[in-house]
Amino acid sequence: MLIDTYGRVATDLRVSLTDRCNLRCTYCMPEEGLQWLAKPDLLTDDEIVRLIDIAVTSLGIEEVRFTGGEPLLRPGLVGIVERVAALEPRPQMSLTTNGIGLKRTATALKAAGLDRVNVSLDTLRPDVFKTLTRRDRHKDVIEGLEAARDADLTPVKVNSVLMPGLNEDEAPDLLAWAVEHDYELRFIEQMPLDAQHGWKRDGMITAGDILASLRTRFELTEEGSEKRGSAPAERWIVNGGPHRVGVIASVTRPFCSACDRTRLTADGQVRTCLFAREETDLRAALRSGAPDEEIARIWKLAMWGKKAGAGLDDPSFVQPDRPMSAIGG
Ligand code: SAM
Ligand code: SF4
Repeated sequence: MLIDTYGRVATDLRVSLTDRCNLRCTYCMPEEGLQWLAKPDLLTDDEIVRLIDIAVTSLGIEEVRFTGGEPLLRPGLVGIVERVAALEPRPQMSLTTNGIGLKRTATALKAAGLDRVNVSLDTLRPDVFKTLTRRDRHKDVIEGLEAARDADLTPVKVNSVLMPGLNEDEAPDLLAWAVEHDYELRFIEQMPLDAQHGWKRDGMITAGDILASLRTRFELTEEGSEKRGSAPAERWIVNGGPHRVGVIASVTRPFCSACDRTRLTADGQVRTCLFAREETDLRAALRSGAPDEEIARIWKLAMWGKKAGAGLDDPSFVQPDRPMSAIGG
């Protein structure tokens, strides 16, 4: 098991497949100038599947989420999903994507064994999308979402980040739209993980702001806390059900004490937390010919050092050097 000194057990593995992306969301990437990982530094498809195999057979991982950067940009994605689906025990598999290209790939991903997708969409307004992501691709995301639902990659979840002065007034419209299309909407508080290090605690839209805004149009009933488990989203029942809305309050209501995650970057580093400043190199072990048992041992040791919390509210908090796109969100 991947257990830490606080007794938490990691069963959920986030695998970043690339640090590259076809959008430039302001809260994640700079407009230009971000240095990509060099190709030889990236894990190969075989290396990724081997590490996931070790994680599910020896370390108790039950769920694998592919992310990035933009994971749909990874040429071998369908093959990786297919090979992970054949592992014993077979983990649950999901994908976090900006949705661009999903129209083309959703059916193949489902056939390969992918269970679910989370698609990120912050606004219903194409002009605001263009400002927020610095690319004019709103229509592609909407089409990707529809393709995911048609391919039965359900429940299709939509992740939205609200940014002051851009889409902060859109929470009720996004929820009305999600309910209409049968998507499960989750708002994510903006975290200090942008490449420019421009995040400010004062300016951010908090979970409290989001809920107050939603309550101007919807009746929200808090779901019992037992339903939350270690899932980061606190959920509310919308207008008596059956639809739900989630809020991931990583900054104002962190869920570190229930965290069940471990992360693997595209260049083969284990991270115990999004906000960790330390990484443990599994790629070097892989490439030096270490057997599975040795890799499992290094991974366990890394998790043993996991900190109690992200420490965002601690005055000594220092943002990680790598941005969200390079860590894997
Ligand atoms: N490119 C894919 C996407 O956008 O879904 C996967 C990677 S992205 C880093 C994963 C999630 O992190 C997205 O839902 C995105 O909105 C979110 N994200 C990125 N930067 C963030 C930040 N600074 N604060 C909060 N969420 C962020
Ligand atoms: Fe790309 Fe996702 Fe980051 Fe946006 S949030 S720039 S889509 S990696």
